[in-house]
Amino acid sequence: MRRLWIDGNQIPGDEKPRKAINPASEQVIDEVSWASVRQANAAVEAAKKAFPKWRRIPANEKAEMLHEVARRLRQNLEEIAEELTLETGQTMKKNRGYVEWSAQCFDYFAELGRHYRGRVIPSPEGSQLSLVLKVPLGVVAAIIPWNYPLLLMVWKVAPALAAGNTVVIKPASYTPWVSLGFTRLFEHFPPGVVNLLTGSGARVGETLVTHPDVRMIAFTGSTEVGQHIMRQAADDMKHIHLELGGKDPLIVCEDADINCAAQAAVWAGFLNAGQVCTSVERVFVDHQVYPAFLEKVTELTKQLVIGPGIDPTSQVTPMIRPEEREKVDLQVKQSVDDGAEILTGGRVPPDKPTGFYYEPTILTGLAQEMEILQEETFGPVLPIIPVSGFDEAMQRANQSKYGLGATLFTNDARKVQRYMEEIEAGNVWVNDPLIDNVAGPFGGMKRSGIGRELGQEGFEEFLDTKHVHWEIEGGSKPWWFSSG
Ligand code: NAP
Ligand code: MG
Repeated sequence: MRRLWIDGNQIPGDEKPRKAINPASEQVIDEVSWASVRQANAAVEAAKKAFPKWRRIPANEKAEMLHEVARRLRQNLEEIAEELTLETGQTMKKNRGYVEWSAQCFDYFAELGRHYRGRVIPSPEGSQLSLVLKVPLGVVAAIIPWNYPLLLMVWKVAPALAAGNTVVIKPASYTPWVSLGFTRLFEHFPPGVVNLLTGSGARVGETLVTHPDVRMIAFTGSTEVGQHIMRQAADDMKHIHLELGGKDPLIVCEDADINCAAQAAVWAGFLNAGQVCTSVERVFVDHQVYPAFLEKVTELTKQLVIGPGIDPTSQVTPMIRPEEREKVDLQVKQSVDDGAEILTGGRVPPDKPTGFYYEPTILTGLAQEMEILQEETFGPVLPIIPVSGFDEAMQRANQSKYGLGATLFTNDARKVQRYMEEIEAGNVWVNDPLIDNVAGPFGGMKRSGIGRELGQEGFEEFLDTKHVHWEIEGGSKPWWFSSG
């Protein structure tokens, strides 16, 4: 049984252990420890105690410890990828990529932490030194969702540590087992610098969010929980960093390579069974190419291989839990009741009674006010909508309360120019959806969140700013009250 990691010790949880489930086989993987509110408080205490020493550790030593996490990720790559596949259901191929990518992220922030501490600015007074000093915040709570338990943990913890903070990590309840295994990545840090505990979001998560000694909450998850966290953070004026839901558009222009756009839409709609925050959830297609696009997208979708992530031929893997699948199926059924048409999918695959599979689904006949075009769908559903041209596509794409990612398929630079300026999204892709870069910021506008992860921006989130005015010559100033 995997245990909690508090103050450098592996300890059993106070609460009754929980079962970790494999979504492809529905079998129990193992039991895991479950933390109590008392233990959440103890983790914050440990992180608070470790902070003064950790912030003073020289930058080179800190960087070396972060590079060591990258080495451990690479040394254990195959094993970690297998564990991710067991508990999240995703393919081994993608999971191997996520482990390597996580290692790159630690290497990147290790160096950023070594190099960046603020700046010197010209002083208004000749004898003053004016410094913009970047300092760590203190204890950071990192609250993680189940769809990318490693990657989304790393995007927070690597910059938080590089900036000199200490952290308490709270993984999602659907993926506790693989997450507790991440302890092995951090064992070389001084006790209390990294703490990791599984437990209920409403109890352990909320304890971290409301704890007066937590200075920042870095959260990825649903918009609803993000809103709740933002309200709760107000009392102590905590720093918040929220990566939330999305309803990402993909626009296909009449000049685009239709085959290529159709392949990209299928990839970006059905990767990880659509359980990606930036999965494509609305495809706006110019009416001139709509019939050809629809035919291609449907043909490609029907050819997708549904199966477990451990099988290298699988393309569409299971959803995380039957409850999540049920929510998606209800959204699809509701859209049909409202007048939509299912071209393929829209059901549990008849040959897959075991495992939480859902067929990749293509919907047409959609009206703007339908729930399926308004609310996030966290599953393999791709609604295709014809539009009169680029203007309508842009207008409809922005007609959403979300603003996480967006993709445009075109070869027309003038359309790209307008789109990149006017699309309301933080992640803006042209001809290649879902690509990320550790050195470039990732995040959302509107109800998709606040702040950015990755890149220089994602590092600065974990730093506070001081302006230091230092009078070097000394002596009294002519504008002071005279001392008589
Ligand atoms: P969720 O229900 O919001 O949960 C996310 C995390 O918050 C979990 O660890 C959860 O713990 C915890 N939590 C729940 N209630 C809490 C509370 N009151 N206080 C503190 N923590 C609390 O989201 P999810 O279902 O795991 O993930 C799916 C959602 O995440 C989707 O909406 C998706 O779009 C979004 N997402 C966004 C991004 C992005 O970068 N923008 C990336 C991936 C996913 P429990 O598991 O114990 O409930
Ligand atoms: Mg989605």
